[in-house]
This record gives sequence, C-alpha cells and structure tokens, in this order.
Amino acid sequence: MPSDITAVIGFVGLGNMGVPMVAHLTAAGFTVVAYDPAPAARERALEVGAVLASSAVEVADRVDTMILMLPNSQIVASVVEEVMDHLKRGALVIDMSSSEPLRTKELANTLAEHGIRMIDAPVSGGVTGATAARLTIMVGGDSSVVDEATPVLATLGRVVRAGEIGAGHAVKALNNLLSATHLLITAEAMTAGERFGLEPLVMLDIFNGSSGRSGSTENKFPNFVLPATFDSGFGLRLMLKDMLIATQLEEQVGSVGTLSTSAARIWSRAADELDPDADHTRIAEWVDHQRGVSQQQ
Ligand code: NAD
Repeated sequence: MPSDITAVIGFVGLGNMGVPMVAHLTAAGFTVVAYDPAPAARERALEVGAVLASSAVEVADRVDTMILMLPNSQIVASVVEEVMDHLKRGALVIDMSSSEPLRTKELANTLAEHGIRMIDAPVSGGVTGATAARLTIMVGGDSSVVDEATPVLATLGRVVRAGEIGAGHAVKALNNLLSATHLLITAEAMTAGERFGLEPLVMLDIFNGSSGRSGSTENKFPNFVLPATFDSGFGLRLMLKDMLIATQLEEQVGSVGTLSTSAARIWSRAADELDPDADHTRIAEWVDHQRGVSQQQ
C-alpha cells in the first residue's frame, strides 16, 4: 500500500497513454483523482477506477501530487497556470508528457516561486508499454524530489534518472528523433526492397537478424504496418512534435542536425497530407504512396 504522502494522486490528461497509466496506479492502491475535458476519456478513466473531478482546478484542490499527461508544452503551461493558485505550497507537479525541455525549466522556476516543486518524467514504450506497466520513465529534477516520486513512478515502469529538471524531456525528444528517423528509413528501405521483388517478411527477418534492426523492424512494421492496422496509439502529429523539439534543441546547443532536419521536414510533409488523427505508423504507407507518385511523374 502506498505511503500516506502519495496515496492520493491527481492525473490530468486521460488519452491513449493516460488511461492505462491510471489503471496501474489504481491497481497499486493509489486513489487517482482524474480530469480530462473529453467525455469519452473520462468514461474510460472511470472504468479503470479513477475518481473523476470536474476540472483540473478541482484536481489541484484535492491532491499534493499531480501528474500531467498532455499533448504538448503549450497545454501543460496552460493547465499549470490554471491550477497554480490551487496547489498547496510543497505540492509536486510531475510532467509525464513529452514537452519542451527549456519551457519545462521555465515552468519549474515559475512554480518554485509559488513554493511548488516540479519534475519531468516523460516515457517511452507506447500504449503497449503503458498497458503492461513497462514504460521507460526518464526523470529530470532534484534528486530528493525524484526519490519522493519514485514509488509512484515505479508503478508504471522502469525509472531512469536523466539529470536536472528538463533532462527527461530533452532525452525523450532525442529518443523520438531516433525512433522517427528509423521508421522513415525503414519505410524507404522496405519500399525499395518490395519494388525489387523482395518479400516484406523475408526482409524483416533478415534485418532483425542483422545490423539494420530497430524498434521499427522488430515492432512497428510487423505489428502495425504490414497488417495495415496502423493502430499503435501514437499520433503522427505527436511524433512530429517530438522531432521538432529535438531539432530545436540541436539548434539551441549549436549541434549540426542535417539528417534530423531533413527527416523532420519529410515527417512534416506527411503530417500536412494525412488525416490530423493519423497514427504515426502511417508514415510507412505515405512513403510507399510517394513512390507511386514519383513513378507516375
Ligand atoms: P492523446 O491525444 O491520446 O491524449 C491527450 C489527452 O489530453 C486527451 O484525452 C485530451 O482530451 C487531453 N487534453 C487536451 N487538452 C487538455 C487540457 N487543457 N486539460 C486536460 N486534458 C487535456 O495523447 P497520448 O498519446 O496519450 O500522449 C500524451 C503525451 O504522451 C504526449 O505528450 C505524447 O507525446 C506522449 N507520449 C505518447 C505515447 C504514445 O504512444 N501514445 C508514447 C510516449 C509518449
């Protein structure tokens, strides 16, 4: 059973990731006071044992620890601004969204002026990892605060300390820059191989036993692309957001990101052309379609 300090957790953002995370927190014995503006999201959270609040402000009024699992830094900042005067001094905000590291540092400073602590704890592992409580949780922040949050976070997966505040968000964006670039180049290689006459499953089998393997060849292609389900639960626009955070970070630190920038530009074109809710694995289908277009030209 959780300690009294952390027994009640606030949770804002009950989307593809938020709901399975709430399910593990409630299963571990935490009382989770949760909010999301979308009725369907609230319904799903209720089904996994959350106590629903009618606003983020109500969550803040009822808890000392508040987890955010929101689409981006802009929304995180707006929710934090809304709840800041309702959180107690000494309260802890844990931003588990994939946010922008420099904005996270600014937000932590603003919260500190109000006596509120913050850490960043973004995750990798997708909906599958959230559902199995096998997320990799990349934590940034003061180590004593991270110690305090660890019993809560460990309920959701493996906690890895990345460094100071913002470090989790920085490494998360860089991880997704790698992941997105792997997926894009895998789509291009698979398209070329198929055009040559290779069987997709044969190619994957060979890549996975060779040095070309990645999460894209081991997981995304066999599970979401080849069966054409495109239902990994991670949106294409969210992936693009992470790539842009990473390329912005490269720029801010004066690092040369030639391939990163090209990959982000290609993902951005796909985002413009595909449905706003498209799953990120649709990039493979889009790449294949580009081949068709270039052949026609
Ligand atoms: P999602 O779009 O499924 O869920 C986001 C939720 O936030 C929605 O239910 C939405 O209604 C809610 N929301 C939006 N504005 C809000 C507001 N002002 N107040 C309260 N709630 C609000 O997104 P997701 O896939 O669950 O991703 C959440 C975060 O986790 C993102 O930052 C994403 O980049 C990151 N992430 C996602 C995955 C994945 O596989 N889906 C994996 C790792 C990290």
